[in-house]
Amino acid sequence: MSLRPAKPRALDVAAFAEAGQDLSGAWPLTELVRLSDSTAPEARPGAEDAVRWSLRGEHRPRAGGDPIVRLHLQADTRLFLSCQRCLAPVEVLLRIDRSVRFVRDEAQAAELDTLSDEDVLAMDRRLDVQAWVEDEMLLDLPLVPRHSRCPAPLPGAEALGVGVAPPEGEGFEPLPEPEPPRVQPFAELGALAALRASLGGAAPEAEAGGAEPPRPPRRKGRGPAS
Ligand SMILES: [Zn+2]
Repeated sequence: MSLRPAKPRALDVAAFAEAGQDLSGAWPLTELVRLSDSTAPEARPGAEDAVRWSLRGEHRPRAGGDPIVRLHLQADTRLFLSCQRCLAPVEVLLRIDRSVRFVRDEAQAAELDTLSDEDVLAMDRRLDVQAWVEDEMLLDLPLVPRHSRCPAPLPGAEALGVGVAPPEGEGFEPLPEPEPPRVQPFAELGALAALRASLGGAAPEAEAGGAEPPRPPRRKGRGPAS
C-alpha cells in the first residue's frame, strides 16, 4: 500500500471528474485529528495506523444541460473505541463507500436534493477530500461500541458499583442487638433503662447488670431543678 503524500485538500472536482481521473492513497490515522480523538484513550492510533482511500471521478455529458458529475469515494480504517459494556478497547472497522453528485451551486444542490435520493453537493469551492473522508468516518462510528463478547470478566463492574461491598450494616444482616426505642427523647441511660423496665421485662440486661435502675427524679420534667 503506497503511502504517497497525495493530499487532495483542495480538489477541483469538475476538472478531476472531467478528466476521468482517479486517485488513491493513505493518510496516517493520527492526521485525522477529530477521528483520532474519538478513539479509546488506552488504544490511540499509532504511526502504523492508516486510513486508505480512493476517489474516482465520473463525468457524463447531458444534451441540453450541465454534465452529471459524481465522485465515488471509498475509504477504510481500523481503530479502537471504548466498549460501552466493559470499557476496554474494542476494535472497529470503518468502511466508507459513497457516491456524491456535484452540481453547479447551492441553489441547484438544494433543488436536486429534494428531487432525488442521491447525495448532492455544490462544487462552487474546492473540495477537501481528507475532511470529507473524516466526516464520513465520524458519521459511521457506532453509537454504542461494544464487544460481541467482552474479553474480561467485567473489569468495569467496579465503576458500575457491582461487587462493591455495601455500606456497613446497611440492610445487610440483622442488627446484632435491638436498638432501644427512640421515641423517647431522654438523654440519660438510666432513664432509658427505667423506661424499658416499666414496659415490662423487655430489658433483662437492666437487671443483669445488677444495678438498680437509678430512676432519676428529674425524668418527668424540668421542675425539680428550679
Ligand atoms: Zn466489552
